[in-house]
Amino acid sequence: MKARLWGVVLMALATAAMRASAARTLDFDFIDVEGGQSTLIVTPAGQSLLVDSGYGGFDGRDPDRIMTAVHDAGLTQIDFLLTTHFHGDHVGGAPALSRRIPIHTFIDYGEPIENGNGARRLYDAYSAVRANGRSIQPKPGDRMPLKGLEVDVVSVGGSLITKPLSGAGTANPACATLGKKENDETENPRSLGFRLKFGRFLFVDLGDLSGLNLVSVFCPANLVGHADLYLVTHHGNSDTNIPAVLAALHPRVALLNNGVTKGGSYDTFRELHQAAWIEDVWQLHKSQNTEENFPDDRIANLDDSTGYGIKVSASENGSFTVTNNRTGETKRYAR
Ligand SMILES: [Zn+2]
Repeated sequence: MKARLWGVVLMALATAAMRASAARTLDFDFIDVEGGQSTLIVTPAGQSLLVDSGYGGFDGRDPDRIMTAVHDAGLTQIDFLLTTHFHGDHVGGAPALSRRIPIHTFIDYGEPIENGNGARRLYDAYSAVRANGRSIQPKPGDRMPLKGLEVDVVSVGGSLITKPLSGAGTANPACATLGKKENDETENPRSLGFRLKFGRFLFVDLGDLSGLNLVSVFCPANLVGHADLYLVTHHGNSDTNIPAVLAALHPRVALLNNGVTKGGSYDTFRELHQAAWIEDVWQLHKSQNTEENFPDDRIANLDDSTGYGIKVSASENGSFTVTNNRTGETKRYAR
């Protein structure tokens, strides 16, 4: 009897230890929102940060997919919803999502400059739900209040960091090849971009930052530093395919939140293939824009009939795994 009791106690201790060790990872779910953005991040302390909420419409497709990821992660609330910018593929899903799960704190850059009917309608719907929670409008260089991580704002509402983030700030020789860059007059160059640091692991997500604002944080000095994992800016469109950016970030792994025909331009693929330091490129969709796709086992959806995501789990020592939810296969990137 005694031996059996000890067995039960030991098993309970082993389970608790396994949970504690599982809880020490930083987990990402790159949700397929068909060429928009929605990334669910759950921290080792159990806090949740959702970056963008995909599209509205489509019978609630994107909020439904986000809720699947939310349930997988065992969440009952989204602690932080960070909206990179006020375009339909990034903020459209927020109102419907807020009817499915409480959102505690909204992080964004205030309001859009685009004034077309569509933009105004999107923003009005979003700001109505934002009014129900706490709200943060950060400045460049601000650190987001997530425990155990350094989440530093690189760009927000058109303003940029002027001092390097920790470990960054070296000259970027690749800037020599840079042509003249301008900002377009959309919300893209106003994207709220950030770098997330967990121990030695670095992740960079700049939303759809593009043009002069994108290059200004990497040239002439690299103010952002390196990335282990880089979510390719603006879905891999050709306007953000700038070799000096890729050279500065020097990512081990790049991930594209492209759609079947959205983003994922031919020249971005070429550039990603040519960057010798990139170990792998993962895609949410096989692109019909090019023959330059990466191997199928690195692609979550081979056509538009499925909505698989890609999961990343990072450890404090900088090692991480990437899992293709379609194949169930996991690849490990050891430090
Ligand atoms: Zn976008």
